[in-house]
Amino acid sequence: MPKQIITDPQSGEKICKCFKRCGGCQLQESYAEQLARKQEKAERMLGKFAPVQPIIGMGTPYHYRNKVQNIYGTDKNRKIISGIFQSTGKKLVAVDDCMLEDQKAAPIVSTLKKLMHDLKITPYDLRGGTGLLRHTLIRTSAATGEIMLVLVTASAMLPAKNNLVKALIKAHPEITTIVQNICPDGMPLTLGNRSVTLYGSGFIEDVLCGCRFRVSPASFYQVNSRQTERLYGCAVRAAGITEGTTVIDAYCGTGTIGIVAAKQGAAVTGVEQNRFAVRDAVENAKRNQLTNIRFYQDDAGDFMQKLAKDKAKIDVLIMDPPRAGASPAFLRSAGTLRPDRIVYVSCNIETLERDLLLLQKEGYRVSMIQPVDMFPHTTGIETVCLLNRQPKPEPQNRRPEKPRNHKKPKA
Ligand code: SAH
Repeated sequence: MPKQIITDPQSGEKICKCFKRCGGCQLQESYAEQLARKQEKAERMLGKFAPVQPIIGMGTPYHYRNKVQNIYGTDKNRKIISGIFQSTGKKLVAVDDCMLEDQKAAPIVSTLKKLMHDLKITPYDLRGGTGLLRHTLIRTSAATGEIMLVLVTASAMLPAKNNLVKALIKAHPEITTIVQNICPDGMPLTLGNRSVTLYGSGFIEDVLCGCRFRVSPASFYQVNSRQTERLYGCAVRAAGITEGTTVIDAYCGTGTIGIVAAKQGAAVTGVEQNRFAVRDAVENAKRNQLTNIRFYQDDAGDFMQKLAKDKAKIDVLIMDPPRAGASPAFLRSAGTLRPDRIVYVSCNIETLERDLLLLQKEGYRVSMIQPVDMFPHTTGIETVCLLNRQPKPEPQNRRPEKPRNHKKPKA
C-alpha cells in the first residue's frame, strides 16, 4: 500500500493525499495559517463580547486523536478494506495512514483485516443490511499506555470469537481490553446499548490534569488529550475555585472537569444524560478519592430547572454542551440561579455566540474568551469563555425615596 501521508521537505509539515476524498480534515494549509484562520473567525464572531485571547495551538499538530474509528468494506477484488465514508456520500474511502490518528491504531486495524479474512468475519454492508462487522473504535491513552478495541457488530453472534481475541492479543500485546458492542441498526459509527467484554476490564484509563479517568466504550471523552489538559486548566482557573466553592458541572461526561475542580476543593454536582458516562463519572470520583462530588443522570436543562425551582445556591456554573449548544430552558434557569460566574466550554462557535447573547440578556457579561485548538486540520474551534454576573439594574420608574424622618437625638 503506497504511503498516503508525505512530509514537505522544506516546511516539515505533513500533507495527506487522501484530503479531497476523505473529508476527515477540512484544512490543507500550513498550521500557522490554520491558527490565524481560526483566530480571525473567533474574533469576528465573539469580539463583540470581549477581547479574544490568542488561540492556544499545538506544538506538533499530528496524530493527536486518541479515538480512532474505522468502517470496513470490500474493494472490487473483494479484498477487505477499512477507512471512513467519503465526505460527499456513502462510498467507503480506504484510509490506511492518517495524520490525525494515534499511530498505534493503524497496525491493529491492519491485523484485524487479515483476521477477518482468515476467520470469515464479513464487513457489514449498510445498503444491503448484510454482514457482521459495522465498525471498530480504538481508544488509546498516551499517559497509561492502555488501548481499548471495540468491535461493533450488527448481531451478537461473532464467529471464532476466542480465536479472534487470542490472535489479536498475540499480535498486539499492547491492547489492554477488547469489547464487542452489538448495534443492530442506526447510523454508521453509532454504538448499540449492549456491550460484552471479551478481554480485559472493558474500559480504558487515562490521566488528565493529575486525575485518573476510566472511560467506557459509549462515554464521551475529549479526543485530544494534550490540548484537553490546557482546555481544562483554563476552564478551572476561570472558575476561580477556593475551598467550598459550589459548582455545577453541566454536560459532565465522565466527570472530568468537575473532578479537576473538586480536587481543588470545590463542592461539585455533575449532570449528564448518558448513563454509561454517569457510571464512569461515579467510578472516577472514587478513583480520585473524592467525596465532594456527586453526579446525576438527567437532561441538563430539566436538572437546571429543578435547581432553579429549589432556589439552590451555586457559585459557579461550568457548562460544556454538545455542538447544538444549550437549550433556552437551560440558559433561562442559569439566569434564575444567578451563579457569580459561568464558565462556558464550547466546541461550536456558532451555538456559543447564540448562547452568549442569551446569557447577556440574563444579566451576564463576558470577561474572558480563550480559543484552544483541539482539532488541527479541521475547522473546529474549541473555546472557553468566562461570564460574570452583573449587578441587577435599579428598577426603572421608581418613585423617589421620601427623605427619612430623622429624629433629632435627645440632648
Ligand atoms: N465535559 C465533558 C463532556 C463534554 S461533551 C468532557 O469534557 O469530557 C458533552 C456531553 O453532554 C456528552 O457527554 C453528552 O452525552 C452530554 N449531553 C448531551 N446532551 C445532553 C443533555 N441534554 N443533558 C445532559 N447531558 C447531555
